[in-house]
Amino acid sequence: MSNENIKEENKINEEKIINNDVKKEVNKEVNKEAKKEEKKMTFENLNLKLEIVEALKEDGIVNPTTIQQQTIPLLCQRRDLVGISRTGSGKTASFGIPILQNIDNQGRVQSLILAPTRELADQISKEMRKWGKYLKIKVATIFGGVGIDPQTKIIQSAQIVVGTPGRIIDHLQRGTLDLKHLTSFVLDEADKMVEMGFIEDIERVLNAAPKSRQIVLFGATISDEIDYLKTKYMTNPIVSEAELHVKKDLLEQYYYNTKSQEKFSLLAHILSQKETVRAMIFCSKRSTVEVIQHNLRNHKFKCEMIHGKMTQNKRLSVIERFNKGKVDILVASAVAARGLHIDDVTHVINYDLPQDPQEYIHRVGRTARAGQKGIAITLLAPQDHGNFHSIIRKYDVEVDEKQPGDFEILQFKMLQNDRSNSYRGSRDSNQSGYRSNNGGFGGNRRPSYGDKSGSSSGYKGSSSGSSNRSSYGNRDSGSSSHKPKRGYSMSKFSS
Ligand code: ADP
Ligand code: MG
Repeated sequence: MSNENIKEENKINEEKIINNDVKKEVNKEVNKEAKKEEKKMTFENLNLKLEIVEALKEDGIVNPTTIQQQTIPLLCQRRDLVGISRTGSGKTASFGIPILQNIDNQGRVQSLILAPTRELADQISKEMRKWGKYLKIKVATIFGGVGIDPQTKIIQSAQIVVGTPGRIIDHLQRGTLDLKHLTSFVLDEADKMVEMGFIEDIERVLNAAPKSRQIVLFGATISDEIDYLKTKYMTNPIVSEAELHVKKDLLEQYYYNTKSQEKFSLLAHILSQKETVRAMIFCSKRSTVEVIQHNLRNHKFKCEMIHGKMTQNKRLSVIERFNKGKVDILVASAVAARGLHIDDVTHVINYDLPQDPQEYIHRVGRTARAGQKGIAITLLAPQDHGNFHSIIRKYDVEVDEKQPGDFEILQFKMLQNDRSNSYRGSRDSNQSGYRSNNGGFGGNRRPSYGDKSGSSSGYKGSSSGSSNRSSYGNRDSGSSSHKPKRGYSMSKFSS
C-alpha cells in the first residue's frame, strides 16, 4: 500500500470512528428521550375517569409501570388477558383500574376478583376502595373464618367482590351472591390458585357468570397449568409480559453456607446488623416458624409470626402491625409469600428453602418492591442444597456467597411437643459464649453458588483439588473452570 493509500485509509477509519461516536451520541439521546417519554406517561394519558386519576395521584401513583401501560388499555376494552410481570411491579392496579373504569355504580356485582389467601384478598380490597373512593362504589371482601351474615349484607350493595374461592362458592350455593351481571372475572396469583387445587372452584364460579364476561389472569410466574383455563374459557386471550425479573441493582441476593446447628445463631447475627431494618424470615414448615419466633424472642428480638394455622383475625392483625412498623421482624410461612405488599421490607431471609423453586421467587419478591432496594439472604445448611440447586437451575437468579465472619453461637431451645424438627426434644445447643469463625464452616465439600471474584476468598483455589465441589452461576470471569456450561439465564418463569 502506498503512503497515500494508507493516509486515505486512516482518514476513512477516523471518519468511521467519528461517525460511530456521533451515532452513539445520537443513540444515547434517543434512549434518553425514550426514557423521558416513558417517565412522562401518566395515568391521565390512559383516558381514565378523572375520579380514578385523582385518587391514584393521592396514593402517589402518577406514572404507570410497564405492565400497567401494556395492560390497562386492553383491559378497559374488555379483552381477555394473561398478565405476567415481576413481583412489586403493580399488577393489582393493572387489573384493578380497568375494573373501576368499566363498572357503573348500580348496586349489583359486576366484577369478581379471586385471590389465593385471605390477606391478599384483604389487601386488594383496600387498594380498590382507595382508588375507587370518588366513584361511590362498594367493595365486598369475602373469605372464610369469619361470620357469613355480615358479608351477605355487604354483597347486596357491592359492585366489586374480592375473595377466596371457598367462601365465594358458599355464597353462590346459598344464593347470597348473584353473578348474573358479572362483566369481569380476575384471578390474581393465577398459577398459585391452580396449584392449590382451586381449578374446580374457579370453574364453578365461571359457570355461574354470563358467557360474555371478561377473564383476566395475573401472576409473577405463570405455569402451563393455566393453559386449561385459557383454552376452555378465554376468548382470544392476549398474553402480556413485562419485566420478568427484579432489576439486579435493586435486589441483591446472597447466600451463606452454614451448619444446621449454627443456623439460628447466624440468623440472629444477620438480624442484629444495623442495615437489617425490616426483615421477613421465611420457613417452609409451621413448626419452624414457631420455634424460630420463640427463640428470637428469647434473645430479645421483637418479632411476630404468621402461618396458616393461626386464626384469620390474628393473621390480619399481625400483617397490620408489621405494615405499620410496630414490629420489624416477621417470621412467616408460605401464606405471606404470595402477593402481599408490605412497604419497606429491607431483607427477606430464607431460613430454609421451599421444595417448589417458584416459591423462592415469590418470597424474595416481598422486598425490592415498587422501585425500592432490597436484599434477599438464604441460609444454606447441607440439607438445603438440593432445593437451592433446583432454584438456580430453573431461574435466572444471581446469588453471591457471603462470609458470615465471627458470630456468637446462641442457645436454641426446641419447643415442647415439636416432633418435626431434627434437633428434637428439649435439648439445647447450649454453647453460649462459643464463637464461631470461618474455620468452623470449613471443609471444601461445600457447593458454592455464584461466588464472585474476591467475595469468597476462603473458597478460591481449593476447588481444583476438590472433585466434590460444584459451582453455580459463577460470574468470575477469571475462573472459567467454574463457569456453568449452560449458564443460568433462563428468561422464562416456566418449566
Ligand atoms: P405486584 O402485584 O405486581 O407484586 P402490587 O400491585 O402489590 O405489585 O404493587 C406494589 C406497590 O406499588 C403497591 O404499594 C402499589 O400501590 C404501588 N404501585 C402500583 N403501581 C404504581 C405506580 N404506577 N407508581 C407508583 N407506585 C405504584
Ligand atoms: Mg400482586
